[in-house]
Amino acid sequence: MQAQTQLFILKHQLQDPTFLPSGHLQDQICCKLTPNCLTSSSLYKFMKTMPKIPSNLNHLWKLHLPPRIKTFCWLLLQNKIPTIDNLQKRGMTIVNRCCLCLSDAESVAHTFTLCPFFLAVVNNTLYLTNTTYCRPPCYHIDDLTSKSLTLCQKEIMAFSCYFTWRERCSRTFSNRASQPNNIASLIIEEWRLLNPD
Ligand SMILES: [Zn+2]
Repeated sequence: MQAQTQLFILKHQLQDPTFLPSGHLQDQICCKLTPNCLTSSSLYKFMKTMPKIPSNLNHLWKLHLPPRIKTFCWLLLQNKIPTIDNLQKRGMTIVNRCCLCLSDAESVAHTFTLCPFFLAVVNNTLYLTNTTYCRPPCYHIDDLTSKSLTLCQKEIMAFSCYFTWRERCSRTFSNRASQPNNIASLIIEEWRLLNPD
């Protein structure tokens, strides 16, 4: 646990360009929070300054979904997945184009709300599960935490987001492409394993 805490602090410090000493100083163990040592009170104060995770994200953990899909959606709702616009914000030089529709820049807002490919995946999945949606044909990632949607609708949304991102990664890294109806079939396959009745 102590090692995990130290790793957490070190990771934060390395992301801060003002932390690293310059010049010909000798290497030494430093702590930005308190000079020369780390204390639990300084760590507590530091953690209190960190942005709070919105409480409505807790609804996500109650959904009947595989853990990998819940974790992905939890990151997605905080805009923490490596979409091209997020990579650019971190300094990566890369052309931003959505590889799913080739018509717009890739971002969480585009890929999981506006992208025609994503909309086709959701529509195909809804059709195959014979499920209606509250406001077709528009879907939004925030629907995952909406109280007005049924659990089934949220789960379909979560599956669609996860499998759309998987398709995006497959196209980007393996140069393999599938069509929305094939992806919807994969979703249904996993959906039925999870909900055998
Ligand atoms: Zn797109």
